[in-house]
Amino acid sequence: MVNVQLVFFLITCLPFTVYSEGSVDYCYTLPACNASMWSTLSPKYCNGTRQSPINIVTADVKADINLTAFNFTGFNDSSHLINIENTGKSVKILSDALNIGVSGGGLQSQYNTTQLHFHWGNGSSINGSEHTVDGQQYAMEMHIVNSRADLNATAALSDSTGYAVLGFFIEATNDTGKPEVWKNLTSLLANITKEAASVDIKNQFTIDSLLQGVDRTKYYRYRGSLTTPTCNENVVWTVFKDTIKVSKNLIDLFSSTVHTNTTTDPFIITNYRPVQALNGRVVTSQPTTTAAPSTIPSSALHHTLSVSTALLCLALFRCFVSVSVCTAVKDLGVIINPSLFFEAHVNNITRITLFYLRNIAKIRNMMSLQDIEKLVFLLLLYLFVVWFLPVATSADSSKAWCYKFPLCDESTWSLIPKAYCNGSRQSPINIVTKCPG
Ligand SMILES: [Zn+2]
Repeated sequence: MVNVQLVFFLITCLPFTVYSEGSVDYCYTLPACNASMWSTLSPKYCNGTRQSPINIVTADVKADINLTAFNFTGFNDSSHLINIENTGKSVKILSDALNIGVSGGGLQSQYNTTQLHFHWGNGSSINGSEHTVDGQQYAMEMHIVNSRADLNATAALSDSTGYAVLGFFIEATNDTGKPEVWKNLTSLLANITKEAASVDIKNQFTIDSLLQGVDRTKYYRYRGSLTTPTCNENVVWTVFKDTIKVSKNLIDLFSSTVHTNTTTDPFIITNYRPVQALNGRVVTSQPTTTAAPSTIPSSALHHTLSVSTALLCLALFRCFVSVSVCTAVKDLGVIINPSLFFEAHVNNITRITLFYLRNIAKIRNMMSLQDIEKLVFLLLLYLFVVWFLPVATSADSSKAWCYKFPLCDESTWSLIPKAYCNGSRQSPINIVTKCPG
């Protein structure tokens, strides 16, 4: 009796408890099974609150210093990519998942790369990326699916960090047949026009080669789901900011070569899920700048400098009409001498402040309260300016130099004592690739 119950349980419940991507008969274009029906067809997760894809609103993205560079293993090795297959829903490149994977990038674990697949629209008329950025949809999106190395396949589907999917936008360009590696990849589509057809691609190209032009240190991060039923909410999403640029004629091959089933069935088109509600989730990214000095736009810096320089000129003018003020200002030479000031970068502010404070009693006797107020204001203004000046901190504080400010920018570097900036073998240079004539 017990055995009969067990068999009954296995037959009836197992198909519904063991999920894998694509186990539900979903589709993209037919009203009975398209994305609007997924929450009915696969209610366990597709109706959830952490679904993917999403629209990334850049103004709402929060900085996270933990989103460091990734470590990619085997992405430069063409022997790891096994075959390319028409799944009837997409085109999938299968990996051997051995010694190929990703870690770092703020991920808490090591992940094995299991497969790559693509989402696209329809020819030039409909874009087909899944994620959007400020409402902008790109021509295609490539997903590199990575599964947590310390979990088995079933556990990875139910753990909230079971998968790390890397999303790359593919942007259409108006040239033809570029890049070469994408031309090679898309030429294989003609061999997999029917569902379940696949061809061997071992030793033909690497993942790295498919990602050319993408700075992989700049990306968005959020917690989400698989974008196909059963929509498991097990994905740490990484969406890269840079796009992969591919000729429009190659992108068009996806929507005009591979069929949903047999070659008499429709082509696979618009195989993307619409964006899902964020439901309070926060998208993070790298902080846009690394240090306070560069957060000030150069125009704002110049504006501040102009105002403070004007005020300094006013003080100098007063110096000429009032001997007592002049003497006081001379005592405070370090404050009004710009070259001394720019040498004295952030680390030396304390020294100047102490100098000022030591002399304040002496100055008080010679100056009116108004003059002192003006000088204190100037001092504070200059402290502010110097604090934000992009002066690089050199090991020798006398070699103060910078990039943007006229008093210390590149044109003045040759004047720095004991420096070699005036030499005859300086770098960088312009490399001229064309032979003369
Ligand atoms: Zn996908």
